[in-house]
Amino acid sequence: MSFKDLKLNRPLLRAIAEKGYDNPTLIQERTIPLVLDKKDVIASAQTGTGKTAAFALPILQLLYDKQDSAKNQKKIRALIISPTRELAIQIQENFEEYATHTNLKSAVIFGGASIEPQKDILKKGIDILIATPGRLLDLHKQDFINLDYIETLVLDEADLMLDMGFIDDVKKVERLCPEEKQTLLFSATMPYKVEQLAETILNNPRRVEVSQNSSTSKNVNQALYYVPKPQKIELCLHLLRNTINGRIIIFRRTKYGVDKLEQTLLKNNYKVESIHGDKSQTLRQEALSNFKKNKVDILIATDVAARGIDVDDVDAVVNFDMPNIPETYVHRIGRTARAGNTGTAYSFCSADEKEYIKNIQQLINLQLDVVEEHPYPLDPKAKAPVHKKQGSKYKKGRKSEASKKKKKRWY
Ligand code: AMP
Repeated sequence: MSFKDLKLNRPLLRAIAEKGYDNPTLIQERTIPLVLDKKDVIASAQTGTGKTAAFALPILQLLYDKQDSAKNQKKIRALIISPTRELAIQIQENFEEYATHTNLKSAVIFGGASIEPQKDILKKGIDILIATPGRLLDLHKQDFINLDYIETLVLDEADLMLDMGFIDDVKKVERLCPEEKQTLLFSATMPYKVEQLAETILNNPRRVEVSQNSSTSKNVNQALYYVPKPQKIELCLHLLRNTINGRIIIFRRTKYGVDKLEQTLLKNNYKVESIHGDKSQTLRQEALSNFKKNKVDILIATDVAARGIDVDDVDAVVNFDMPNIPETYVHRIGRTARAGNTGTAYSFCSADEKEYIKNIQQLINLQLDVVEEHPYPLDPKAKAPVHKKQGSKYKKGRKSEASKKKKKRWY
């Protein structure tokens, strides 16, 4: 199928050609006709499948075909809600590119950044607004946003939105929009709570599913290293020196872990950037942009900070900490081997993480390749340390060796 077969109009086809897309992806093939037909859609698709264009292109076409306001009286007619700022920015960049040959205007607003410039942009008039929920409600309350003319509402990464605690905000935004509207919901996974949300806000939705969430790309080599937890850093340095090349994303479970690894790699003269939820918006954007522009080869991230971010040409993903949710493993390694390229996922598993490997292998229905030849093997009999006290299970692991040696307390 070609984009022409999807009945997209000329200005959009021109922009698509300029982006270098030859043919629509599966999600685009299935979603675009439904959106053009004004249906509500619930789509299960991950980042990397081309899902942004799957909603952006038909929305632009619908708005383009029906323009009655004068240029200086633009009304917001499409609203896209995204859980993270990075994702929101990325979506808006996509809209801007696809709308190059139209007169349609889009803008993005998000928290953690100065509100005044966002007000100025809104005042100028836009057709499409991409927003994170908190800032959207804030600006609506201050009367800078009118949602009375929304024709299409998109909830992107709905599962993450709910995980991040935005459920009430999302429902509120939905109620602020007109009842008569088209709603599209995209989610990487479809847990019960997403289904429930869909049931309350979607109207007779059509379902689109492009891939099993459990599938991992055939182009990713998946190597598993059993290693004692304290030696993960040595293993990481060893692999960076000898094995891993190119552009790398290293995943850690905690913000603390990200910072600690960043310090170590910087000390070892690696050029590194990092992103996690405690960093300011400016720092996160800067880090991401430096990685995207190839100024650094290594990005260290937590899962939430990295979710949905579109970075091309990642050669390797390192699971420095194994994720306890198996689907997270699939999301992580989906960062590499995009668009037909090959990539490698390196997973570091310590004694206490063996259970996670079992669950991951079950989900992806594949045995990971265990690499036994490396300098820091884990004794196969090593057992996970037993923490007797409940409620403090992270405390021990979080303390660095240096801080343990340092007897002096900070207080
Ligand atoms: P997304 O899943 O929306 O984050 O898109 C992932 C990547 O695929 C982005 O870099 C898009 O620019 C790219 N992309 C989207 N649609 C196509 C297409 N039809 N052909 C080639 N690349 C595409």
